[in-house]
Amino acid sequence: MFVSDALGVNQLDHLTIGGADTVELAAVYGTPLYVMDEELIRKNARAFRESIEQYYDGNGHVAFASKAFCCKEICRIMQQEGLWLDVVSGGELYTALSAGFPAENIVFHGNNKSVEELAEALNKNVGRIVVDHFFELELLNQLALAAGKTADIMLRVKPGVEAHTHSYIQTGQIDSKFGFALETGEALEAIRQAISLPNLNLRGLHCHIGSQIFEITSFTIAARVMLGLAAQAKSQLGWEMQELNLGGGFGIKYLSEHTPTAYEDYMKAVSRTIRDTCRQLNLALPCIMIEPGRSIVGSAGITLYTIGAIKEIPGIRTYLSVDGGMADNPRYALYQSEYEMLLAARATAPKTERYTVAGRCCESGDLLGKDIPLPKSQVGEVLAVLATGAYNYSMASNYNRLPKPAVVMVKGGKARVVVRRETYEDVASHDI
Ligand SMILES: *Cc1c(COP(=O)(O)O)cnc(C)c1O
Repeated sequence: MFVSDALGVNQLDHLTIGGADTVELAAVYGTPLYVMDEELIRKNARAFRESIEQYYDGNGHVAFASKAFCCKEICRIMQQEGLWLDVVSGGELYTALSAGFPAENIVFHGNNKSVEELAEALNKNVGRIVVDHFFELELLNQLALAAGKTADIMLRVKPGVEAHTHSYIQTGQIDSKFGFALETGEALEAIRQAISLPNLNLRGLHCHIGSQIFEITSFTIAARVMLGLAAQAKSQLGWEMQELNLGGGFGIKYLSEHTPTAYEDYMKAVSRTIRDTCRQLNLALPCIMIEPGRSIVGSAGITLYTIGAIKEIPGIRTYLSVDGGMADNPRYALYQSEYEMLLAARATAPKTERYTVAGRCCESGDLLGKDIPLPKSQVGEVLAVLATGAYNYSMASNYNRLPKPAVVMVKGGKARVVVRRETYEDVASHDI
């Protein structure tokens, strides 16, 4: 009935998440409010992990892409589920380590990591550093030498695979700021340099071809292309790839008409491709890594808002404004992402109207969606925006000095705050 298994309806016709009544959650914790269902997060994490066990003899790791939703509690949950963590900044690394996440299970990404971030990653013995460009190879080698260490690295490669998704979230093609290009020979040259540097240990190759991808073939083609590069490196440089990281990007259901592939089917297809290709190319089977972000947390989250001004412009559109917007969910403003919405207290009421749902920031582009089907709505009602668990809290800003909402985690009907709501004092706390 809804876009996510986390959601349901109770006898009062109230929307529930993880068994908790969303009208009550809004009353107790205030709005805007992010709410996440812990059970679904864990279930999704397990589905990926078990698929590697089932289809690839457990010879791999699932690293949660923490940029999708980063706070200490999610790091603890991922650790409990046996996942690794992918971080892309000193701040994400700090969050993971301060939650007690084991450094050796952290993969550090980024197209422009600072000297301080690289030194910190070395200092804390982060499991893998994914090197993105030639300058970083040299720099990391020097830093590792100075620290008296050998860094385990992977190289980020642009495999030239075009994933069918919005262009802002395509990252595998040649015109991308991420990684070494395959077609131009740059990636092979990077492998050559990496293996010649004494304080780097090149364990494998990485690619991430985009996000919100529905087609399995995007992943199997990327795997084949990456193994082709590994075969070239083996024959020309004598280097054998031990690890292949295929990144994340698995699509989720934002709208009822979306039909994402079951996560285990990706691993089933990708495992077969890797086995077949390795046999053809005479390569040893690599340990594989995948880095799902959105697909672990996206469907598990919703955002609750209180409806304020409703402004009808006859013959044009009706604006329905909420007490949040682009500051807590910039995704519509960034790339016209679509969401389903409903009224928390009248979850199954027929959606007879069309509203353009606006935020409260001083930007005309501050919208959460255009022409959204909803029941006739009243000021003061609670609006639920569905499938906001990924890239919402993590992309939130304090634009207009709006305090960031709290994040509440629900488990078996019980709620607890995992990120407290910011206060005005928090917002002004760094001002001199
Ligand atoms: C963003 C990103 C991911 C996660 O992408 P999702 O679409 O959230 O699954 C994984 N790996 C890398 C390197 C990324 O940049």
